Amino acid sequence: MPQSSVVILGGGPGGYEAALVAAHLGAAVTVVDRDGLGGAAVLTDCVPSKTLISTADFMSQFETASDLGVHLEDHEGDEVADSVAELTAVNRRVLALAAAQSRDIGRRLDADGVVVLRGTGRLLSPSRVEATLEDGSTRELEADVVLVATGATPRVMASAQPDGERILTWQQIYSLPELPEHLVVVGSGVTGAELAQAYLGLGSRVTLVSSRDRVLPGEDADAATVIEDVFRKRGMEVLGRSRMASVERTGDGVVVRLEDGREVTGTHALLAVGSIPQTGGLGLEEVGVALRESGHVTVDRVSRTSVRGVYAAGDCTGVLPLASVAAMQGRIAMAHALGDAVAPLNLRAVSANIFTDPEIATVGFSQKDVDEGTIDATSVMLPLATNPRAKMQGITDGFVKLFARRGVGTVVGGVVVAPRASELIYPVTLAVQHGLTVDQLAGTFTVYPSLSGSVAEAARQLHPTD
Ligand SMILES: Cc1cc2nc3c(=O)[nH]c(=O)nc-3n(C[C@H](O)[C@H](O)[C@H](O)COP(=O)(O)OP(=O)(O)OC[C@H]3O[C@@H](n4cnc5c(N)ncnc54)[C@H](O)[C@@H]3O)c2cc1C
Repeated sequence: MPQSSVVILGGGPGGYEAALVAAHLGAAVTVVDRDGLGGAAVLTDCVPSKTLISTADFMSQFETASDLGVHLEDHEGDEVADSVAELTAVNRRVLALAAAQSRDIGRRLDADGVVVLRGTGRLLSPSRVEATLEDGSTRELEADVVLVATGATPRVMASAQPDGERILTWQQIYSLPELPEHLVVVGSGVTGAELAQAYLGLGSRVTLVSSRDRVLPGEDADAATVIEDVFRKRGMEVLGRSRMASVERTGDGVVVRLEDGREVTGTHALLAVGSIPQTGGLGLEEVGVALRESGHVTVDRVSRTSVRGVYAAGDCTGVLPLASVAAMQGRIAMAHALGDAVAPLNLRAVSANIFTDPEIATVGFSQKDVDEGTIDATSVMLPLATNPRAKMQGITDGFVKLFARRGVGTVVGGVVVAPRASELIYPVTLAVQHGLTVDQLAGTFTVYPSLSGSVAEAARQLHPTD
């Protein structure tokens, strides 16, 4: 059989994971990438934010030290009241780590024989891509299969223009020379909430401007309430029902004007008001690829677009803006295009995590699905405060919540709010993915004492009784 040729636009998780699969399946693969391998996920969004949060998390552990009987003293024996982050050192680490991860991906692609072209790609036809390289020259590439994985970029509003110094998108914060004295974060979705708490932990005064009743709209309401309480307890000012109208720079600060006329001043503003897909100028509409009104590429569960041979993966599809989902969509696309066994994308089994402190991890059906009758399920919520390990570790906020199909007891979803909830959600995800019952989950040994003991205990309480 002649070797298939695959051209991938974008080297983020959607693109590079697809490239590895396609290369293993024997295709000749070229990745055209504009901004650097790993994409926004590695260079500006996911990896940098989680690295920054690791420093903030480390610092917040000092706050519970005295509860656990530890007094931090300086060389003179005086009690240390505050730990201080040196932002330039933190940012240097963040950027070095991101660059190293990008290089690792490059080496991996190279080892697997994938050709990487640094430049901007666009479709000339469903089987021809033009790459404009960094030196301005162009190359035309023939392709049996094209994958579009060009990601998304921060939404910018005319009334709130970032200047990269005091009015910032989340992609610009890593060049800040010093810790903002008073950061006003606009937007209380996942990115806004994570970064607001990170800067609070690092030592900034933080005001969070949220247009909704509570932070993290769209997430489990019980979980969001825990997080908002923690934010306030730690000194963050949370302004609910406060819609931003404009952000402007003043001499040495910023003013955020709200739609109701109030003004919030600070030294810096961070805009976290969503993303828009990078699908303009790619020639997609010209070759017949259907886009939604939002600009996202329409795809099915095996990542096909409306044009045969053209696939799309990741944030440019708007399916679920997660690196893990982008990678899965990319892998599925290549398996489908190159004739390998393929299971369509199953969003019900996607585990997701919000890296606040405590973290919020979710999988499967949600409380909203249960409340709206999308699924007939029973649920139980166990506060972590009753868990012995949590008590030993001084953990007071958080819970485990499980949903089980009524009558049969199959685990269909869960929420964990805890430190490292991203690790604790895995047994629940396994149960959801493989249709395990609450009895099977409850009948599996957990370590004593452990936080995962609460997952088993919640399952035990959901034992079907009729
Ligand atoms: C602050 C923040 C934190 C996040 N944290 C997490 C997290 O913890 N976990 C998680 O799972 N997800 C996280 N996400 C989401 C995650 O970053 C995205 O879902 C992921 O980046 C999507 O991958 P992608 O491959 O679709 O696109 P991207 O990672 O955006 O990569 C797209 C690539 O395409 C290139 N490109 C664009 N146009 C062209 C063109 N015309 N030609 C050639 N190349 C082009 C770009 O240069 C880029 O390299 C976070 C997002 C944000 C904003």
